[in-house]
Amino acid sequence: MAEPDNISLFTFCASSTSFLAVLICQLLPEFSNSLYLSFLVFPVWCGLSYVLVKYIFRDDPSYQNALRAGFLGCAFSLGLIISFLMPTISHFGWYLTALSFFHWSEYYTTAVTNPKSLSLESYLLDHSKEYKLAAMASWLEFSIEWLLFPGLKHHNYISRVGLFLVIIGEVVRKLSMITASTNFNHYVQYQKQKDHQLVTSGIYSLCRHPSYVGWFTWSIGTQIILCNPLCLVGYTAVSWKFFKQRIYEEEIYLLNFFGEDYVEYKKKVGTGLPFIKGFDGTF
Ligand code: SAH
Repeated sequence: MAEPDNISLFTFCASSTSFLAVLICQLLPEFSNSLYLSFLVFPVWCGLSYVLVKYIFRDDPSYQNALRAGFLGCAFSLGLIISFLMPTISHFGWYLTALSFFHWSEYYTTAVTNPKSLSLESYLLDHSKEYKLAAMASWLEFSIEWLLFPGLKHHNYISRVGLFLVIIGEVVRKLSMITASTNFNHYVQYQKQKDHQLVTSGIYSLCRHPSYVGWFTWSIGTQIILCNPLCLVGYTAVSWKFFKQRIYEEEIYLLNFFGEDYVEYKKKVGTGLPFIKGFDGTF
């Protein structure tokens, strides 16, 4: 059976291109369906893909991987279609494309750079209750404001700033994962692995926590894309607090693992996040 990275890449590409093809066919003049009606294709397509994937991988646990990548591929294409063909909610399309790509690429980058730590959780789809609540809050805010004050959602230049931040955040995050390679982990490590080495080169020479800088920038960018003022404030405050605590905890263990080397590194390089200093030696 193929490697998990190939399964994920193949299924993501296959589902996104085929779903895109189905949706584009729906737009041909021969079909009298309206664009909105054609979105019924999404659940039908997901159902068919589910049956197909289960059939192809019937005795193999990889079907769980293929299902997630397939679903994210469909969501990616749906986002593109909304972006290009539905001007009134095109920014939601940008957001959906960015969101599905982020989750898929978290798994794929882990599979390529650190396969030992790979699991289905690397898709970060079950990240935490708070993460899901935050996502739902942003959809709710977008929908309510879109219905009540549609003008608020039509600031193309603001959404472009958001898109720029999302792209920068995504690049910084993935560059960090590639640079840290096997030393990177979606879970803070409390015990030093034999092969765990301190990374201070590349993007880690600019800041100590580049992957968190990337994620922080990305998450703020998503709310700017959506022109969601309430969630923008909420996301900034909540993710800042989350990363402050996480960095503090992570650095206690990093100092334990690498001692003087980490102390020296800490003296020279900042965390990368505003007003976050990390563990200062006091509890
Ligand atoms: N905080 C880093 C890494 C996140 S991954 C960043 O934002 O890029 C989390 C794991 O990375 C933790 O288990 C921690 O032990 C490890 N880690 C963090 N900084 C590291 C470094 N400079 N070198 C090696 N491992 C590091």
